[in-house]
Amino acid sequence: MQLARFPRLTLAHLPTPLEPMERLTAHLGEPRLLVKRDDCTGLALGGNKTRKLEFLMAEAQAQGADCIITTGGVQSNHVRQTAAAAARLGFDCHLVLGRTVPWNDPDYEATGNVQLDRLLGAELHLVAGDTDRNAAMAALADELSAAGRKPYVIPSGGSNAVGALGYVGCALELEEQANRQGLVIDYLMHATGSAGTQAGLIAGFHAVNSRTRVLGIDIDAEPEAVASKIRHIAGKTAASMDLAPPDDAATVVESGYAGAAYGLPTPEMAEAVRLAARLEGLVLDPVYTGKAMAGLIGLVRQGRFKSTDTVVFLHTGGAPGLFAYRSVFEG
Ligand SMILES: *Cc1c(COP(=O)(O)O)cnc(C)c1O
Repeated sequence: MQLARFPRLTLAHLPTPLEPMERLTAHLGEPRLLVKRDDCTGLALGGNKTRKLEFLMAEAQAQGADCIITTGGVQSNHVRQTAAAAARLGFDCHLVLGRTVPWNDPDYEATGNVQLDRLLGAELHLVAGDTDRNAAMAALADELSAAGRKPYVIPSGGSNAVGALGYVGCALELEEQANRQGLVIDYLMHATGSAGTQAGLIAGFHAVNSRTRVLGIDIDAEPEAVASKIRHIAGKTAASMDLAPPDDAATVVESGYAGAAYGLPTPEMAEAVRLAARLEGLVLDPVYTGKAMAGLIGLVRQGRFKSTDTVVFLHTGGAPGLFAYRSVFEG
């Protein structure tokens, strides 16, 4: 399996660090916890989408595109990293932003990721929460094509078999770090949403026959839909590397930590964000990593892991979103 045969640009600071979380490990008692710092990928405050964009933007360039269209919620981290990649590579960037989260904090549409989208020079198209955003992107692509432009459309979260290659790369990188540090990683845990991260990790570990198990924490309150999307993308990603699809059982999505819906805070999330900040100096976010850390804490408390297990928490970024939820953390 050679990742180097796929077109790729350099956008991320790699490898990201793999660090122990000694105080959180002591606080919870067991298992041994480490954090893989994909919040440190470097592009416009970093995050997991940057790894995907190295492959997606290479495809855009290869196709002769001159502008990028993508979509997400108002506080999307994917959209912010795409706007930054587009700026760096000299593409115009159009963002279809859905008002999907019923969160009425006045900061929500002014600060955090959306403030950065504007700063990065992207053109924002805000739409109602129930808008079909794929159709809106297709209409925008038609409009731009009719005007003589060459748009390249990136799906929500950059999650397709091309974007997932970024997380094949992360799996290989982690495997190498573990080998060098003499670590056996039993579990890798992370927030799972549009499925590309988990699909890529599963395909990557499958490619090198790793025994590390991936645990996705559902943050959408739609665990079955996410799991079937992960299996689909993991199969396509494996096929693009001339591999058989990973076993269906490799896809594990843990539910119970999303709360009522995507983007709505939970008390467990707020506790987890505070704990990570105060014990590890780690800044998590309310939408993804805070809920994933709540999932990790919940699974530890349920006795899901052996005391001898080594569990890596993949920090997928997202901290700019904190500022859109200021009221949750006041007092
Ligand atoms: C997008 C995102 C995720 C989820 O990754 P997917 O590939 O969409 O499943 C997790 N954490 C953060 C901070 C994100 O922005």
